[in-house]
Amino acid sequence: MNEWFAKQVVHRFVQFSRGEKIFNYLKKINHIPYLPSDEVKEMQLKKLGKTLRIAYYNTPFYRRLFDEVGIEIENLRLPDDFKAIPTLSKDMVRANYSDIINQNIRKRVSKELTSGSSGNPLTVVKDRDKSAYGRAVMYRCYNQYGIEIGHKQARFWGVPISPKYILKEKIKDEIANRIRLSAFDIHEKSLIAFTTKLKNFKPRYFYGYPSVLHKYATWILEKGYDLKELNLLAIITTGEVLYNFQREAIKSAFKCKVVNEYGCTEIGILAFECSEGNLHIMADNVYLESANSGKSRNTGEIIVTELNNEYNPLIRYNIGDIGTISDSSCTCGINFPVISSLAGRDSTFIVTPEGRYINDAILEYTFAQGIKQFRAVQNSKNILDIKIVRRSELTDRTMEEYKRKLVKHLGTSIQINYEFVPDIEPDESGKLRYFISNIA
Ligand SMILES: [Zn+2]
Repeated sequence: MNEWFAKQVVHRFVQFSRGEKIFNYLKKINHIPYLPSDEVKEMQLKKLGKTLRIAYYNTPFYRRLFDEVGIEIENLRLPDDFKAIPTLSKDMVRANYSDIINQNIRKRVSKELTSGSSGNPLTVVKDRDKSAYGRAVMYRCYNQYGIEIGHKQARFWGVPISPKYILKEKIKDEIANRIRLSAFDIHEKSLIAFTTKLKNFKPRYFYGYPSVLHKYATWILEKGYDLKELNLLAIITTGEVLYNFQREAIKSAFKCKVVNEYGCTEIGILAFECSEGNLHIMADNVYLESANSGKSRNTGEIIVTELNNEYNPLIRYNIGDIGTISDSSCTCGINFPVISSLAGRDSTFIVTPEGRYINDAILEYTFAQGIKQFRAVQNSKNILDIKIVRRSELTDRTMEEYKRKLVKHLGTSIQINYEFVPDIEPDESGKLRYFISNIA
């Protein structure tokens, strides 16, 4: 579809008929990331207070919860009172579903189903005002890289199995001006067909899971294909932790910027990478904390509170990821706080014989150039087994350097065994996990 038509006709019509004022919000919120950081903090506390009051007066669940911990809603002391609120798990949301919904407003809503990777999907309801704000935040992020509403997108994503959903998703793809490659169907034949499709469609950007994009990029590089002609504005990765070796491979296959998006289906974008490579929290839409779980001094579980959701407020929602939130400033001009390290919900810690917990991200920091893939498995506190698929450019000297680096971080008491292998298969879940801990 012509991009002007997609933006000015299709998007405007869809937004109007859904009552989702994305264009209006985009104009209103564009300047917010560049406000001085104390103004951002003030705005957050104000929105936080409003969210708590709305939740207290309109939802039985939060009224009960706040009363239990003794919060005086008309005499709020923020952020201290806020910290007294127990965190909310996915199971709690599921169990109290109708009590979390605002009882006093009737609005048009959209339903979204979170992924069932944990075996238990959750339906979240968003009113159109909230979803418009969320989408405006998304386009504000994308605008940094020249991507606009209506621009053509190639998506590396799941494809529904049931015919009803296939048609629904096809219509959604058509309206959104995008094509998709099934993340579950990656083999020689599908990749050849998709490459031809891409060349004809000429997308402006890619969007997808880093593991899938990395697999595609590796295939492109191995075949010696050149997809520079696509002239992509950026490749946005989402849904999993983006490792450096994935970023490098994707970058060299498509010769464009690779940008990390951190979000979840329940809420939307939580943080987005800026031109300086920092993951800025979308502080006008969410309030993020990292609650120390005692695993490591500076890391903790990421707890999210939505700031623009009056219909079904999520307050101190634990999304199960682990990260570090930093107030350090960034030279890109955006004054939103930064997530300085992030590990996915599947991530774990390497445990040393002395009982130190080291985030598995250290492996990714260590194994950079020359390594196609790796998998580390820890079966006991004394031993770490690492399988590596090497590239031809990996020299023995570089490998020795990687080994020294790892010893520096993990110490000498843990024995590290290296094995070079031709390939590493995904595990039963289909995920390409890089670290597996078999110790409790
Ligand atoms: Zn920045």
